[in-house]
Amino acid sequence: TGTRPPAAEAGAEEVLRRIFGYDAFRSGQREIIDHVVGGGDALVLMPTGGGKSLCYQIPALVRSGTGVVISPLIALMQDQVDALRALGVRAGFLNSTQDVGERRAVEGALLAGELDLVYLAPERLRVEATTRLLDRASISLFAIDEAHCVAQWGHDFRPDYLQVSMLHERWPTVPRIALTATATPETHREITARLELADAHHHVSSFDRPNIQYRIESKKEPKAQLLELLRTEHAGDAGIVYCLSRASVERVAEFLVAQGIPALPYHAGLDARVRAANQSRFLREDGIVMVATIAFGMGIDKPDVRFVAHLDLPKSVEGYYQETGRAGRDGQPSTAWLAYGLQDVVQQRRLIDSSPGDAAHRRRLSTHLDAMLALCETVECRRVGLLAYFGQHGTQPCGNCDSCLRPPESFDGTIPAQKLLSTVLRLDRERNQRFGAGQSIDILLGRRTPKVEQHRHDALSVFGIGTDLRELEWRAVVRQLLAQGLLAVQGEHGTLALTEASAEVLRGSRSVALRREPARPLRSSTGGAR
Ligand code: ADP
Ligand code: ZN
Repeated sequence: TGTRPPAAEAGAEEVLRRIFGYDAFRSGQREIIDHVVGGGDALVLMPTGGGKSLCYQIPALVRSGTGVVISPLIALMQDQVDALRALGVRAGFLNSTQDVGERRAVEGALLAGELDLVYLAPERLRVEATTRLLDRASISLFAIDEAHCVAQWGHDFRPDYLQVSMLHERWPTVPRIALTATATPETHREITARLELADAHHHVSSFDRPNIQYRIESKKEPKAQLLELLRTEHAGDAGIVYCLSRASVERVAEFLVAQGIPALPYHAGLDARVRAANQSRFLREDGIVMVATIAFGMGIDKPDVRFVAHLDLPKSVEGYYQETGRAGRDGQPSTAWLAYGLQDVVQQRRLIDSSPGDAAHRRRLSTHLDAMLALCETVECRRVGLLAYFGQHGTQPCGNCDSCLRPPESFDGTIPAQKLLSTVLRLDRERNQRFGAGQSIDILLGRRTPKVEQHRHDALSVFGIGTDLRELEWRAVVRQLLAQGLLAVQGEHGTLALTEASAEVLRGSRSVALRREPARPLRSSTGGAR
């Protein structure tokens, strides 16, 4: 560090103005760029929209040689390269979508020193021909984009990305800059370790996105809830609706279109041409609602996305943050809205139980889900919870989330918790039978359903002891006990089971605070941002 020639400083500033047309660096960019221009390594944790790209693009233009950008986003390389070329930057990419001719042309330009930047898919690094090519080229820096993909702890681990750890072994003198928009302390540590960046310049931005209003409500009739949100607050706005499955993407898109809303589907099962056409309409036209699986969105730079709606529970807080972060890149008020229900928890647990990988992997997934549930069920400011998850502690309630705008009431829920846990305990004794939350709730409500009668559950002492709460409220109790670790859900039928902590509640040595379900969810007319 500190070896940067004085000329380089002017260079960075000039490139910012002349090529990118901006007057000033944003917070953090200058230090990062100076450090990399001077030949140092950097690790950049900056939220989506923070301006990470310039942090490697400018050093690549200031230093001599070609900047090599490792990126998993193959589908976006063409767009990224086109955008750079439009600015007069000499850029190219190498990935599996090219034919031999195209690849040869880029390789030739690279060796001739005619490229400022070349984008490379990580799996290319496994190909000996690629590493030999890089040996013969003059490289100004390596940029490792979406660096969280090297972290097993994270939500988006890609085995191919482990290849990037060989970069500094093979080319020890070339500076590296790793960048990501995901930054829990665990992921930060793992990236640092795997890429050996302990001595690098670490930049950690604030992860707050103050213009995004976070709202999480319970799922009743998801399509109707979504429609109300779009009609009352986001008529004519562009937005993204995330669904878990391809089938629900199709259903929801059809539903919105039938309601007169210009919606398009996007998921990995669609023909590549259809996907590309839908994506480009979303980017170029106004007011399109993209209904998508999480296959959509990484690297999409559309500034005026006014809302991101989740109709299914994200698998992790990291995922939730990334997906909601696609709203409001232009800094204007935007909504992050999530509807979730008990069924989501059951479904996610089932996915975890049946996921390939070892026990440690399943435990990690389960920890991620628990943190997401805790965020959903908190009575505190959502933003405070979110930022704390990313290691930013001690922030004040934000005034721009549902918890702040309409503080949820909490009440002493020890007795309902005990009623529910006693029911689960009794059902658990029926060794050869497995019952989900629905059966427990039917018993508490004293409903003589065929399944209740068949198993003689109307003879249990807990039958009918929960008529003081409605079904919806019981579902909320189940969700909150799950979120608090006082109940577990297992197996393919979503069987409820006690945890070690449940015993304390049953014994009466631990009390349980619960959040009261609001009669009506927050809408802009009742105090939203817009
Ligand atoms: P990220 O990769 O962190 O999500 P980008 O690099 O795509 O973010 O930047 C987000 C937007 O901010 C882009 O439109 C970019 O051109 C713009 N931007 C970045 N740095 C600056 C700057 N110093 N001044 C003005 N705009 C900037
Ligand atoms: Zn808040």
